[in-house]
Amino acid sequence: MATNAQPEKLTAVQHDLPTPEPESPFRSRKPYRFSTLCATVENPDMKDQYGSSSVPIYQTSTFKGVAGEYDYSRSGNPTRSHLEHHIAKISSAAHAFAVSSGMAALDVILRLLKPGDEVIAGDDLYGGTNRLLGYIKTHVGVTVHHVDTTDPASLHPYINPDKTAMVLLESPTNPLLKIADLATISKDVKERAPNAVIVVDNTMMSPYLQRPLEHGADIVYDSATKYLSGHHDLMSGVVTCNRDDLAKQIAFTINAVGNALTPIDSFLLLRGIKTLAIRMDRQQTTAHIVADYLHSLGFRTHYPGLPGHPGKDIHARIADGNGAVLSFETGSKTLSEKIVAGTRLWGISVSFGCVNSLISMPCVMSHASIDAATRAARGLPEDLIRLCVGIEDPHDLLDDLERSLLGAGAIEFDEVQNKYVRVVDPEGTDAISRAVQKLAVGKELGYDAGEWVVSAPGKVILFGEHAVVHGVTAIAASVDLRCYGLTSPRNDHRLSVHFHDIDNFYLEWNIDSLPWDAVTPVPAGEEHPADLDQRLIDALLQGPLSQISDAQKSARVASLAFLYLYMILSKSEERPSFNFSARATLPVGAGLGSSASFSACAATAILLLHGRISIPKLPVPTDPATGHIHVSHQGRRALPSPIAEEVNRWAFVSEKILHGNPSGVDNSVAVYGGALAYTRPGFTRKSGMEAIQGFKSLKFLLTNSKVPRDTKKLVAGVGEKKTNEPELVNSILDTIQSISDEAKRALADPELPRESLLQALSVLIVENHGHLVTLGVSHPSLEAIRTRTAEPYGLSTKLTGAGGGGCAVTLIPDDFKPEHLQNLVDDLIRENYEPYITSVGGSGLGILSPYPEHRNRGAASATHEHTQAEGQVTPPETPAPEYQIQLGDKAKALRVPFETTSFEGLTEWASGLGKWLYV
Ligand code: PLP
Repeated sequence: MATNAQPEKLTAVQHDLPTPEPESPFRSRKPYRFSTLCATVENPDMKDQYGSSSVPIYQTSTFKGVAGEYDYSRSGNPTRSHLEHHIAKISSAAHAFAVSSGMAALDVILRLLKPGDEVIAGDDLYGGTNRLLGYIKTHVGVTVHHVDTTDPASLHPYINPDKTAMVLLESPTNPLLKIADLATISKDVKERAPNAVIVVDNTMMSPYLQRPLEHGADIVYDSATKYLSGHHDLMSGVVTCNRDDLAKQIAFTINAVGNALTPIDSFLLLRGIKTLAIRMDRQQTTAHIVADYLHSLGFRTHYPGLPGHPGKDIHARIADGNGAVLSFETGSKTLSEKIVAGTRLWGISVSFGCVNSLISMPCVMSHASIDAATRAARGLPEDLIRLCVGIEDPHDLLDDLERSLLGAGAIEFDEVQNKYVRVVDPEGTDAISRAVQKLAVGKELGYDAGEWVVSAPGKVILFGEHAVVHGVTAIAASVDLRCYGLTSPRNDHRLSVHFHDIDNFYLEWNIDSLPWDAVTPVPAGEEHPADLDQRLIDALLQGPLSQISDAQKSARVASLAFLYLYMILSKSEERPSFNFSARATLPVGAGLGSSASFSACAATAILLLHGRISIPKLPVPTDPATGHIHVSHQGRRALPSPIAEEVNRWAFVSEKILHGNPSGVDNSVAVYGGALAYTRPGFTRKSGMEAIQGFKSLKFLLTNSKVPRDTKKLVAGVGEKKTNEPELVNSILDTIQSISDEAKRALADPELPRESLLQALSVLIVENHGHLVTLGVSHPSLEAIRTRTAEPYGLSTKLTGAGGGGCAVTLIPDDFKPEHLQNLVDDLIRENYEPYITSVGGSGLGILSPYPEHRNRGAASATHEHTQAEGQVTPPETPAPEYQIQLGDKAKALRVPFETTSFEGLTEWASGLGKWLYV
């Protein structure tokens, strides 16, 4: 709109679509309801020349001609005019303006003030609002009084008929959801200072739930970045009012400073508004469920829909709903930080109003611009967590939140109430270790000396082996070949190990004969020191392990790791007597992470038997529609993260015993499953381990060449080559880095079609292998496997791990015919290799659920693949209240089949035992 045309438009009646024309004089139509108004973008004064259904984007800064309605987009633009017309319509307003952000909207409004004016504002305002008020206080000479707006009387002392120029309110406030009686305050102020302008920030409600102009406000603004847009894809603010004089000044400022909304953002905002009502309905229904849930756990929860929320009745009079923002207090800032960090579905982000749910800690995020002392003075708790609920399935949102609360140690299971309750831990000092201790319910269940079946996957290095030693990123993924561990109680005060795959090694010890003098136990919740306890290692090697000959080196070191963990994790008064058997479906010593999967199994078994971790009992589910707890547990990710972290820490200790200086990749894959990218510290690149999210399971053929390797020698060989031919080796390392980067990108890209992913991986595999050959770490047997898979099958193969023997990996495309795969397997067996068909990227650590009703279900319904199926939700856990594990015969029940089931049948046998819980 042309600048000079604005006054005419300002006086025009804007909300011209509240009700259609009566059909007949006798039967009038009802007014349109809000959602109809929202979805119907129509401006009879601005008919589109082509009848377009959606308002076009007039992406132009200027308009031709001199007498047209529009001349320059800062002053007016047709797309923005449509938007403003629509906003006015749904806000009960005569005038609406769209600007570049919520803060820009407030800025435009605050420019109504002049030096010497006074403003009365709430004391629980959005942080950015405070910041801007602070600015005008110091730079414009305006006095700002912050008062508790929950009590209209608290404003009275500050209302001055000559000086009070503006009252700035939010209701409900963000993040404490305090309610201000907008109607009473407006009336009080108007009576005492008729010239004061009542301004309301309505962002938390949107026009759908609250229209303050109907309650006496003069100006209302929204950060349209929030609910009005709904998708977090634009920034915008809108200002509405009914008074022509105010509208004129606002229009002047917007044109003068040039912060009107751009055409493309006007278009997007208009599109977002069409679904405002339907989004809001869903979001606030779920918010209510979440608020009820937190309240029922015993957390102090702020939400206007909860009984007893201060000002609830006032809010109900003014607003049409409670909105979708709530907050709760945990009693500890540290605990809150852990909860916020522990959610996956709830994104950590400032802002709200989006279709995706968000979690944040206002004091360190959105309200960090208010200094700590002021926050404290205004009663903003440092531990406050704000939840902004989106449109996701409420089950998933509750499930994710519950996992995080549990993981952080904020809730625990209460047997009497059969539900989770809040752990009252005002100090919140060490929530994780507390959680780990609290999870140690095994003892209470009489299960600490019982049978546990655990399993963990092996790994393949898909890209970057050898180069990883020199700071290049390696990509590792779990394989569907696993190590299984079983603990069986003994009644003779002895401890024994049985390693099937290390020459069927078996050894037992009297527990009292172990070198207890040499052990410094690590108390529950504490971590192992960086260095191994050499005194204990020496004592074990010279004592209980001295009888194992050098010919049984692998068994000796595995026993050493087992006894070391057993002793260092022991409490002096409780030394459980049991046998630990380990069996694997993956080849041992072939570079497939068999030792890490053993370490993860042994660590888990020992932690369980020492009562350091246990499987949380879960509540009887109830329906979220009724506002109570419901937890859906998939087999995958049913083990809370403190358990995974604790096991991983101890599996790493075991790996140190087995390997001296492990990278930590193998045990992390064994515990967490999936795929990860690892870069060693100490080089220029960013180091660390990064899970590759969204990794899709891939089929591989792993072929064990059965040629033993000397990893140390191979690694040293590459190092030497680097010294002798630095240019060549460095350029190979750079290329391998780009291969790893490319693979990581492709594996994590949810948009990439599967066929393209497989093609890309296939090319990268061939390339990476070529470089490993140049580095001199291949072997004739590996080249023979590669040739066999390439001709005539056309498959891509590379060596994996150290090379020089060990295994080769071959990518099997989805459409590779089963009969061809069978032929290839037969060919390889004929050539005396050991092929394994496996999928890559599956579950990590698994523990067979101890709850009896999940045991001994039909193998068919509980196969490993089945429990992992994407998107499948297994039935919620319903533990029997009279749960009690019976020792005795049953305790020995699994040992015989575990030790005698065939190698081929082991996976299926284990799967058929019942429900497996995975990390
Ligand atoms: N008002 C409230 C209540 C807010 O929460 C925000 C932003 O978070 C704003 C105003 C400022 O809006 P914007 O970020 O769009 O400038």
